[in-house]
Amino acid sequence: MNSNEYISVLNSDLRIIKGIGEKKSAFFAKMGIYSIWDLIYTFPRTYEDRCCFYTIEAAPLSIPCCVEAVIRGAVIEKRLKKTMSLYILRVEDSTGIMNIKWFSSPFNKHKLKRGMRYSFYGTVELSGSVKEMTLREMEPYGEQNLIGRIVPIYALTHGLTQKDFRKAIGFAMEKVGFLHETLPVSLIESNSLMTLWDAVCQMHTPNSTQELEIARYRLAFEELFILNLAMRHMRIVNNITTNILPENIKCAAEFAVSLPFELTADQKKVINEMCMDFKSGKPMNRLVQGDVGSGKTVVAACGAYIMAKNGYQTAFMAPTEILANQHFCALKNFFENTGISVGILTGSSKSKTKILEDISSGAYDVVIGTHALIEDRVKFAKLGLCITDEQHRFGVKQRARLSKNGAYPHVLVMSATPIPRTLSLVVYGDLDVSVITAVPSGRQKIDTFCVNESMRSRLNSFIEKQVNAGYQCFVVCPLIEESDKIDALSGAEIFEKLKVVFPQYNIAFLHGKMSVDEKDEIMQKFRDKVYQILVSTTVIEVGIDVPNANLMIIENAERFGLSQLHQLRGRVGRGSVKSYCVLVSETKTDDAKERMKIMCDSSDGFEIAQKDLAMRGCGEFFGTRQHGIPELKVANLFTDLPIVEHARKVCDKILETDPNLTSETFSHLKARIDKIFKDFGCLEIFN
Ligand code: ADP
Ligand code: MG
Repeated sequence: MNSNEYISVLNSDLRIIKGIGEKKSAFFAKMGIYSIWDLIYTFPRTYEDRCCFYTIEAAPLSIPCCVEAVIRGAVIEKRLKKTMSLYILRVEDSTGIMNIKWFSSPFNKHKLKRGMRYSFYGTVELSGSVKEMTLREMEPYGEQNLIGRIVPIYALTHGLTQKDFRKAIGFAMEKVGFLHETLPVSLIESNSLMTLWDAVCQMHTPNSTQELEIARYRLAFEELFILNLAMRHMRIVNNITTNILPENIKCAAEFAVSLPFELTADQKKVINEMCMDFKSGKPMNRLVQGDVGSGKTVVAACGAYIMAKNGYQTAFMAPTEILANQHFCALKNFFENTGISVGILTGSSKSKTKILEDISSGAYDVVIGTHALIEDRVKFAKLGLCITDEQHRFGVKQRARLSKNGAYPHVLVMSATPIPRTLSLVVYGDLDVSVITAVPSGRQKIDTFCVNESMRSRLNSFIEKQVNAGYQCFVVCPLIEESDKIDALSGAEIFEKLKVVFPQYNIAFLHGKMSVDEKDEIMQKFRDKVYQILVSTTVIEVGIDVPNANLMIIENAERFGLSQLHQLRGRVGRGSVKSYCVLVSETKTDDAKERMKIMCDSSDGFEIAQKDLAMRGCGEFFGTRQHGIPELKVANLFTDLPIVEHARKVCDKILETDPNLTSETFSHLKARIDKIFKDFGCLEIFN
């Protein structure tokens, strides 16, 4: 096959496969599988080890196993219902006799003749004194297609069976015949990696668990290696200088003194790191990671302060209008009597023309805003620093655009998603990372409880107790589509109920369908203690700061992921008062119960994030696309840390000798990296 033919086969439509027509190809398309290439790069969800054979006597009970035996008689059919039969087949080997049973027949009973030797796979139990296997698979002995080996199990969609998948992949692999290597041969050899073709073959039809592991290592390595190389290479290309050099850095100290509290050691450390960046002559590219409530905003404010005192502007971008407003209030407070002017620009800002003028004339030192800040018409007079809060909601692309608005401004990214450092090097390979671990002193642990409906009246008394003591309460409900049949209380329903239970209190309801003005008004009144109870859908998830609120109630808590629950809980316990979080849930599933337990046991965002990652896998955890990293099909950022390390070391070596990847050996890698940049919009940084 020449290279044109090769590429054309890989890009072929699935319908060239025997047995796949219009209908089946539509099911595959639903899973994002369109071409032969997509198909062979769709790896099994898991595997079943059907290698180990037992004699009937030794066959273990209650776990699936393989038995090889001879058929002793005809299949007996017992009709249970009109459409369902129970089939029983008696088999034997030299150690004993066993009954094989299965319901409604995928197997052709007429083919099963006395004296034939078969392999059976299923779960054995004792029925009286006789062993009985509930059958999952059988095949003539020696065929070794589905029994006697490690069998791949693919994720399916409605309309497709494991058999469809296995057959389609088998055919596709045969058609392709060989996959050209995607990594430099020298790299494969020096790292003892499996070749691409062998690895892909082993993933679909593993010879042994060992070989499967080596194959998976190779493919995960490749993903992590390319990703890391891309991130690091971007950084080298991005090795530019900036003329934004604030001379007076010492003013940070006068800002610290003006605060109503003492900065924590971690906050000071991060401010220090930021100051070093400002002096370095290179644009800062720093991620500040800190758990909810660790006090990231004041660090950002300090950066803005330094810039303002040196004649530069700061753009501060938040993911929602509510948050932009909150940061606006916070910074105005911090900058009281400093002569620093703070403005706000959001989609719903009135008198936009005036605001835009004040930005372009430099009348504003600091401008807080939503994505409205990155519109083309926003022109800064002298932009020195871009800050983004919770950037995983923004993505790489927007950040790049904001950076473009001035000549290489410094960039500070804040995130409450505490991921392990090694991972952050992969995910944020282009950023320096600062971590705030300690929360401000005087905070008390948030006591967390999980309750069910039977405790409702006690919960109401608890709300009453807190509110009567002068505190406020959040009640958060999952967002329910009206068409949703799930048995969950909607926010509106809970709001109505609470009004009946607590006629003496002012209760507000905040939800996503409200206008921004309405939301702001409610938030402001809640801050001003006009409302005692705020019922809301998850619009309050990120960043809201109302220190007087000390009780967070989360309805249908099982419908939230761990990290989300932790974020929500972080809305209370932000002052010195004792705070509580109550998870209301009727859940019976193990997974949800586990999440509730973790929440009750742990208040450590780092630990919770790790557990979340372990339970959900990386894709969902990171919301990959929002992070601007390509999808990882094989690698798992949580469990594959050793591979991450290995890939990084190999990158180190390559970039040391050939930082621009100019040599012929790396031309293929360079092309792939360029494609990643193109797909994810990072190239805009260099324009
Ligand atoms: P987050 O890191 O979640 O964005 P914030 O910056 O909103 O946290 O800070 C949470 C609360 O803690 C705010 O009310 C803030 O004013 C307060 N805070 C920040 N730093 C300190 C400190 N060093 N001492 C006491 N309170 C602090
Ligand atoms: Mg925050």
